[in-house]
Amino acid sequence: MVKLNENYQNVKDSYLFAEIARRVKVYEETHPEKAADIIRLGIGDVTLPLTKSVIEALHEAVDSQAVSETFKGYGPEQGYAFAQEAIADYYARNGVEVKATDIFISDGAKSDTGNITELFAKDNVVLVPDPVYPVYVDTNTMDGKNIIYMNGTKENDFLPMPDENVKADIIYLCSPNNPTGACYNKEQLEAWVAYALKNDAVILYDSAYEAFITDPTLPRSIYAIEGAKKCAIEFCSLSKTAGFTGTRFSYTVVPEELVFETSNGGTLSLHNMWNRRQCTKFNGTPYIIQYAGAKVFTEEGMKECQENIGYYRENARMIAETLEKKGISFTGGVNSPYIWFECPKGMESWEFFDYLLENAQVVGTPGAGFGENGKNYFRLTSFGKHEKTKEAMERFNSLF
Ligand code: PLP
Repeated sequence: MVKLNENYQNVKDSYLFAEIARRVKVYEETHPEKAADIIRLGIGDVTLPLTKSVIEALHEAVDSQAVSETFKGYGPEQGYAFAQEAIADYYARNGVEVKATDIFISDGAKSDTGNITELFAKDNVVLVPDPVYPVYVDTNTMDGKNIIYMNGTKENDFLPMPDENVKADIIYLCSPNNPTGACYNKEQLEAWVAYALKNDAVILYDSAYEAFITDPTLPRSIYAIEGAKKCAIEFCSLSKTAGFTGTRFSYTVVPEELVFETSNGGTLSLHNMWNRRQCTKFNGTPYIIQYAGAKVFTEEGMKECQENIGYYRENARMIAETLEKKGISFTGGVNSPYIWFECPKGMESWEFFDYLLENAQVVGTPGAGFGENGKNYFRLTSFGKHEKTKEAMERFNSLF
């Protein structure tokens, strides 16, 4: 008889956003007269279209696929060299040296942060911040790994730091953080790198929101920290940087320096393992997407993306202003597209979700979906349109 991966029984039943969609649908069905008024500031999806240079590049790449001389079939599993080099250049402009050949292009930071678990044995201790992007917990649960948590709370500004009494082998860090918007500074990341090097641990660093950092003192890559290439893998994505949520382009840096001992006294390179994994299970991000994605990393391409990010930043400012006026303290919104605040009136997050939907027709994301420490918190995103965000904040203002 077939034996199933019963670890799936331990994964939480419903993915956070599926439950949000369900509740909104019920509300729409029971209040059809209000359905059109609903403003969605919940899911972290972008609303602005792709930039001019990306659209032009997409057209160009499509046309090149129509001609035998330029037609491309299977590409390198690691990504085209032109795209790897464009990313390496972008790192260099931000003051970080990354080898183009250490960059693996993929179709999503979600897939890569999930698939990377395959490289690690089951008996590792996996340290995950709480609250955080739920994919780290769910994928390790599916894999049957031992997960322990570190608390992100108001007291530590939602930035948990290493604890010498806790021995972890795999450490997830997400900065700027989803959902809290909190962002590690250089000294804090130095402490994490020191911990990882001392404990022969690996850091899985998710920098999906690096392009939202405005404070020049904050690192935009873990490799801004000395020694990080010996202990960290970095995941990044164009989803939020360039509006690629539906277009799909991400990259994962696995430095050649990442070499760990094996039980038989030998060594294994994570770079070689990931390369082997990708070559075996992945046939590359489409050429058309890589061609367009590579344009994002040019100075002109990034300037256009930063204009869009500036648009979202204005939404974050409007949200922050409203919360400040109401005396509600929050994190994020400055170096991050997310704003995270304690639910008013002592409500729990799902209760507040229903309250806000019923009384203001505004949809946000309950903090409980990101971990225990989020159960009294709420996340709003700045990815909406100005008019909608403004309207949502006016309703928020009159409600409290
Ligand atoms: N990492 C974090 C922290 C995210 O918030 C998200 C998306 O919301 C992702 C990764 C997924 O990115 P992608 O669209 O590249 O799969």
